[in-house]
Formats: sequence, C-alpha cells, structure tokens
Amino acid sequence: MWRGTRHRARTFFKKFMPIKLFNTISREIEEFKPQKNNEVSFYTCGPTVYGFAHIGNLRTYIFEDILKRVLEFNDYKVNHVMNITDVGHLTGDGDEGEDKIEKSALLESKSVYEIAEFYTDAFQKDLQNLHIITPNVWCKATEHIQEQIELIKKLEEKGFLYKISDGLYFDTAKFPKYGDLAHLNLSGQEAGVRVEINPEKKNPTDFAVWKFSPREKQRLMEWDSPWGIGFPGWHIECSAMSMKYLGETIDIHAGGIDHIPVHHTNEIAQSECVTGKQFVNYWLHGEFLLINDNRMGKSVGNFITLNDLVEKGFDPMVYRMFCLSSHYRSKLNFTFENLENARNIWQKLKTKFLNLGKLTGKIKEEFLLQFTACVNDDLGVPKALAVVWEVLKSDLSDFDKRATLLEFDKVLGFDLQNTKDDENNFEIPQEIKKLAEQRFQTKLKKDFKKADELRKKIVEQGFEIEDFVESYKIKKIEK
Ligand code: AMP
Ligand code: ZN
Repeated sequence: MWRGTRHRARTFFKKFMPIKLFNTISREIEEFKPQKNNEVSFYTCGPTVYGFAHIGNLRTYIFEDILKRVLEFNDYKVNHVMNITDVGHLTGDGDEGEDKIEKSALLESKSVYEIAEFYTDAFQKDLQNLHIITPNVWCKATEHIQEQIELIKKLEEKGFLYKISDGLYFDTAKFPKYGDLAHLNLSGQEAGVRVEINPEKKNPTDFAVWKFSPREKQRLMEWDSPWGIGFPGWHIECSAMSMKYLGETIDIHAGGIDHIPVHHTNEIAQSECVTGKQFVNYWLHGEFLLINDNRMGKSVGNFITLNDLVEKGFDPMVYRMFCLSSHYRSKLNFTFENLENARNIWQKLKTKFLNLGKLTGKIKEEFLLQFTACVNDDLGVPKALAVVWEVLKSDLSDFDKRATLLEFDKVLGFDLQNTKDDENNFEIPQEIKKLAEQRFQTKLKKDFKKADELRKKIVEQGFEIEDFVESYKIKKIEK
C-alpha cells in the first residue's frame, strides 16, 4: 500500500513536476533531461588533499549531496564520480608555483602518499559525519596518469598543443568556444588576471596539460611521458576520469563558483577538442561560504574545519542545517551567532520528530507534492524546510507526520530515523524524563496507584505521557 502510493507519486512527479536546474552555461533555469531515461551521470570535483577541508569546501559538497538526493528522490539512478586531486594542483592555482601536496609533505615531513592518504581519510570522515552519500566511484589523479597521457596525445595529434620550456600547453585561441561557460571576455583576458602570466605562453588563458619536472631538482611525484618526465596539469585529470567512468558527454558536473573561470572552462576546452562532443549538459555551481564578508579559503588562511565546530560542541547536523537554510546560489556568511540559530532550529526539529514516537503511518501526498515542488525548483531547500514545519503543525496523526518527515529526510539527509534523544532536548526537562521513567518502572511492577500519582505530577508541569505496549512517549501539552 505504502509502496504503491510512493510509486504513483513518483510517476506523477516525473511527468508533471520536472526537476528544474540553473545551468551556468546558459545562465538560465532549465528543465532537467538526462541522456538516459532513468539514469544520471554526475561528476563532482573533489578536494586537493594537502590539508583539512574547510567548512566552505564542505558547503559545496553538501549542495552537491542535496542535488544527488533530489535526483534520487525523483527515482533517477545516479552514477556519481568524485576525484581526489593528489598531484598537479599548484599553489598559484594556474600553472605556476609549488605542488600543494609536495609542499605539505615537506612541511609535515611525510611522504606525498602519506599526506594524500591522511587528508583523503579526513575528508571522507567529514563527508560521513555530514551524512553526505559517498560517490559510486572515487578516483585519484595519481592512479590515472596513463588515461591523462592518452588524452594529451589525442590533443597533440589534433594540433591543439604547443611546447614551451616548462611544459606542454593548450592553445586556447584554437577553441572558439573557449570561455563560454564563464562568459569570459578574451580580449580582457580575465583568466590571466588570476593566473600569473608566463611570457612564453601564446595567450594568457593557455594552460598546461603536462608540466616538466624542473631540471635543478627532482620532484617527489613524477612520471615518464612521450614529452619528458613530469606530471599532469591539474585540469586534465577531471576530463580523463570523467570520460573514463561516465562517457564523453555527462549529464551534470558540479563544483564551487571559483571553478567557473579556470578549472571548468579548461576542462570543457580540452574535452570537447578531443571528442568533438559537448562535454557536459548541465553545469551547476554553488556559491561561497563567507567569513567576515570574505571568501573562506585555505590559501586566505581564514578557515574553520568541521572538527573545529565539533570541538566547540556543535553536532555536524547543525552545520548541515546551517547550509540548508540558505539557497545554494546565495552567498552565506558564517558567524557563530548564525550557527547558534541553526543549532536551535536543528534541536527543535529533532525534539519534535522524536516526540512523534516510533511508529510510522502513511505519507501525506499533499505535503509530499508541496515538498517536491520546492526541491525540484532548482533545489529550493529553504522553502522545503518550511513544509517540514507545516507538517509538524498540521492535524495529521503523529504516525503520518513521522512517515511524511522520513520521506522528506531522503532529501534533507538528517538521518532522522536514527536520531537519538539527548540531554539538550530543550522541550522535555530532565526532571520530567526522570518522573516518566519512574512511572514506567512503577507500572511494570503493577503499582498502578503510584503510577497514576506520578502521571498527575507530570501533567501538572505541562507534559503528558502516551503509553505503548513496551514503551512510552513524553509530549508537551500544547496550549
Ligand atoms: P579545493 O579543495 O580547493 O579544490 O576545493 C574543493 C571544493 O570547494 C571546490 O568545489 C571549490 O569550488 C569549493 N570551495 C572552495 N572555497 C569555497 C568556499 N569558501 N565556499 C564554498 N565552496 C568553496
Ligand atoms: Zn575538476
């Protein structure tokens, strides 16, 4: 019965309530249509594992998680690939500077592989703590060197590359669509503003696909190639791995907005020049997390990690709630005051949900439609959260409220099903919990007179008890 309702609702959504997404390439909200009827290929740029992820990075991964959950909520099978950048991302963010991983290895007196492994583990733990669903495929740049070389060979055969003293570069003037994603004005050379200009490059926007190891010192990570010993440029890994695991054209590629003008722009150029096909159908980008009105960034040095928040006593779900309270395309300013607000909201939701008891009824279709309309409209999660409160306020039975909220939680990802009560449950004071437990034990001993007295005491203080066969539930008496 329940499954039947769900299936009917889903079929209805797909037909009449399509998912609409803001596509960076068109700068418009578009109806989402994957290449295959029921499957979505989804690639997200993963972290450069030279240090802990900060909560700004994690905001982007939470947005991508919501996107994936919304697709699954609409019954699509999502094939999700995320890369791990463990070589080639230079401190200059362009083609200059030191390799970030090598720099960390020297600083921490560890091997590059130890650094990459340590921070990959730390990152995956953060994702787990934030209830971010793991990708179907994790892929490391260092384990796909051959695939990257093959791609570079094809670009070379087609005449898109030229060699200068420090590497092999892509000639962006040969790709007329270069910069379309970022709406770059090539005569203004916006990418060149961000990246130090190498005088040997033909155009400031040209980028390295293979860099040579410096003659004067041996790099910690380097590989042989048809062009000499060196390492791949940062962008080529995403093209090579996304094509390997998801095919030449993928449905959705996502990341933070900083990737639009350089990294994703370059991914498009090198991929489309190899295949002659569109690389990505829908590009989605999440806005920045700010701190004191500046972008939070590892290189800026103004960052906070998830562990910092946990050490200050914040449950990772508080940070998830904090992110979900704003739309992914809006800037979000981080302050501890704002985080406290999110803690109150999370606590309230948790308490109200726990107070619904343990039995599950039926999903209320009317609310399900409202909720889906919000999330299918370019991931309108803040609006969807408003529907959550409406369900709680409604006159549905507690069982049906629970069923409906558990269904919504497939998108929200709070794992309400496994949420436990804790001392911070503001609505039910410790004293009442003690009285209720005392009453329950008294009842088990069949001392019903004493149990009734205890119930009276509880009611006098504004709470009531609902009994089940082997348990009970405390509820605040709503006035
Ligand atoms: P990185 O490890 O630097 O490659 O960044 C990992 C992800 O975090 C990328 O998708 C970036 O776009 C994103 N990112 C970086 N800084 C922020 C920020 N302050 N707010 C939101 N996302 C960010
Ligand atoms: Zn990437």
